[in-house]
Amino acid sequence: MTTALVTGGAGFIGSHLVERLLGAGCTVRVLDDFSTGRRENLSSVAGHERLSVIAGSVTDAACVASAVRGADAVYHLAAAVGVTLIVAQPVRTLETNVRGTETVLAEASRAGVRRFFLASSSEVYGKSDRIPFDEDDDLLIGSSRYCRWGYACSKAVAEFLAVAYARERGLPLVVGRLFNTIGLRQVGAYGMVVPRFVRAALAGEPLEVYGTGRQTRAFIDVRDMVEGIHRLTDRAGPEPLIVNLGGEREIAIADLAARVIRLAGSSSAVRQVSYEAAYGEAIDDMERRCPSLARARAVLGSAWPHISLDASLETIIAFHRS
Ligand code: UDP
Repeated sequence: MTTALVTGGAGFIGSHLVERLLGAGCTVRVLDDFSTGRRENLSSVAGHERLSVIAGSVTDAACVASAVRGADAVYHLAAAVGVTLIVAQPVRTLETNVRGTETVLAEASRAGVRRFFLASSSEVYGKSDRIPFDEDDDLLIGSSRYCRWGYACSKAVAEFLAVAYARERGLPLVVGRLFNTIGLRQVGAYGMVVPRFVRAALAGEPLEVYGTGRQTRAFIDVRDMVEGIHRLTDRAGPEPLIVNLGGEREIAIADLAARVIRLAGSSSAVRQVSYEAAYGEAIDDMERRCPSLARARAVLGSAWPHISLDASLETIIAFHRS
């Protein structure tokens, strides 16, 4: 029987992963500092006999050491997330993502865990224009003037740290580069576009499209995401695996706005807003972002991910409506 530690387990993706691991029979420990994670995200599994929740930070070595003791697998999802938060709190972003990851890796390695999953980000591809992004591509980080690239860089450093622990200390490692993930419990407060669009569409307010709206993203439903994380991590072996986890089809953000309005049966307008007005400073936004899924599908099968964008949006809209 597997005992799994999920850092950031009270967050959006983390809480879905916790549900999946409990469903698979694992004993699950959550370590979360509840800065962006929320207790109600775990309400469906609250009081579960195989779940324990520790309130603490991934930068607190003593806390991490006690959380990881006796664990077989670590899923490290705790991180500063969302463009709004990253721009507003750059110091906290770098500390959490770099020092936090270093601490969790060191304690997991010391405790001899048999599987380690690191949640990285599609942001590490930075300004690359090689579409689709392949895991072995160069990482093209922009100027340090922009806080966004500090975030991208912190996730890249986290990956290098993890690979170093895998190579030098034998930590069985899977690095997942997570692309834009959507689903229930995602909140718009830190920037994420889908919950913001859905909320506005249902309230009859304008949907704010930043920049030209021609920039694209490839969205994936959180249920497909946690299936991918779980099944790939079970394959962790002596050679570190770096793998994209994302949606297959790109959609332009202006088209996404129109899609949400249609699916919600809304009469909201679409308003264009500059990045400066949206984030309080200029943002070096990515024009296109689309993963190669070949490596993930070699393990997960060619039918993965299963849930279409429309089906995912309909679930989210129905939930917010009720
Ligand atoms: N975006 C938007 N309106 C919003 C929030 C975001 O047009 O209310 C844009 C944002 O500028 C980006 C895309 O939607 O081009 C995806 O943004 P999100 O923050 O969800 O993810 P990321 O930028 O990390 O891909």
